[in-house]
Amino acid sequence: MITRLLQFLDASPVNFLAVKHIADTLESAGYRRVDPQLPIGEVKAGDKLFVTKNDSSIYAFHIGRKPLADSGFHMICAHCDSPTFRIKPNAEILCEKGIVKLNTEVYGGPIMSTWFDRPLTIAGRVIVKGKDAMSPRSLLLHIKRPLLQISNLAIHFNRSVNDGVALSKQKDMLPILGIITNELEVKNLLTNTICGELNIEKEDILDFDLYLADATPACTFGVHNEFLSSGRLDDLSMCEAGLEALINTPESDTTKVLAIFDNEETGSQTKQGAASPFLASMLKRIALAQSGSDESFYQAVERAFMVSADNAHAWHPNYSEKYDPTNHPVLGGGPVIKFNAAQKYASDAVSAAVFAQICQDAGVPCQRFVNHSDVAGGSTLGNILASSIPLRGVDMGNAILAMHSCRETGSVIDHIFCVKAFSQFYS
Ligand code: ZN
Repeated sequence: MITRLLQFLDASPVNFLAVKHIADTLESAGYRRVDPQLPIGEVKAGDKLFVTKNDSSIYAFHIGRKPLADSGFHMICAHCDSPTFRIKPNAEILCEKGIVKLNTEVYGGPIMSTWFDRPLTIAGRVIVKGKDAMSPRSLLLHIKRPLLQISNLAIHFNRSVNDGVALSKQKDMLPILGIITNELEVKNLLTNTICGELNIEKEDILDFDLYLADATPACTFGVHNEFLSSGRLDDLSMCEAGLEALINTPESDTTKVLAIFDNEETGSQTKQGAASPFLASMLKRIALAQSGSDESFYQAVERAFMVSADNAHAWHPNYSEKYDPTNHPVLGGGPVIKFNAAQKYASDAVSAAVFAQICQDAGVPCQRFVNHSDVAGGSTLGNILASSIPLRGVDMGNAILAMHSCRETGSVIDHIFCVKAFSQFYS
């Protein structure tokens, strides 16, 4: 199970590749890809379907033995985007003696200093000419070797570097890509790299969505290999736990749904984000195909339960003062239920009770997280989704250290606990 998690993390440097990996896994598990441009056709008990939006969000449905109106659905949702740097158009900047750096902008909220001095690569999608202007083709790109680096300034030029340094996104965070001997090459350095990798012609490229990613593989560490170290644990670890549980639990009375959204890190307000009506319309179409009426969708929503799975903050042994005095989850302590009085999290006493009981039934410990009252904390998917589909649900996630670092730290046993809890929920 942990080997599969590490493989998934390495195969998913960005959202598009995570969705591809999830789609491939679902297809191997017998799920049928639905084209949302076409009628979804007959839907019957036991059917396994999935659909993608923008190639960067994915929704899987395992239809239950009972009609949606009678048993609702059990949904796990998570997100596949992570903080990173997006490569801007016309990105190549020629510097002294042929050194070329790339112009980038920040995506989400990375801890920027953690991106310094480590081998990075490029991943995303390249858009090439299709049969007409409205139908360009999309090619996935993942350059599987160290290709760039954002280098620190030497301490000799900044003696106070260890006292904390303000970083400029535009000046400090631009990676170096290469050295050229012919200055005319600079305009095409990135394009030529892409063409070589994808085996296409320069004239075919119309545009791209490309991002930086850590080129170092995910791994375990610790005296007992009890820790996980990887980029993008938030929230790919929860995506993987949901996927494991979905494909390894048999058909049940209730319809199982796995929803992996994009753009959580920038507020979810896109057609492929949690604020989009896309998932609600897919559920409505399934309900309609099953029963011939919209009414069963509304009944199903009232019977449904959502687990919004997004990583939580683990107690950090060096920064105890940042945490709530009585609710600070630890690595290895099991899934974490998150509460917030201002309703940044969907959890309430009822939904938390439901999830805690699921954990208990699965033989898994669970913990509770609340922010230190003087610390603002973050937000997530659950309440955004619940404001468009009024679902009863809980916000939870496994605890990690250094959230939004280029390299986050998680716990091996927590991942196993989480898959067990999700499998119980889906059973
Ligand atoms: Zn997250």
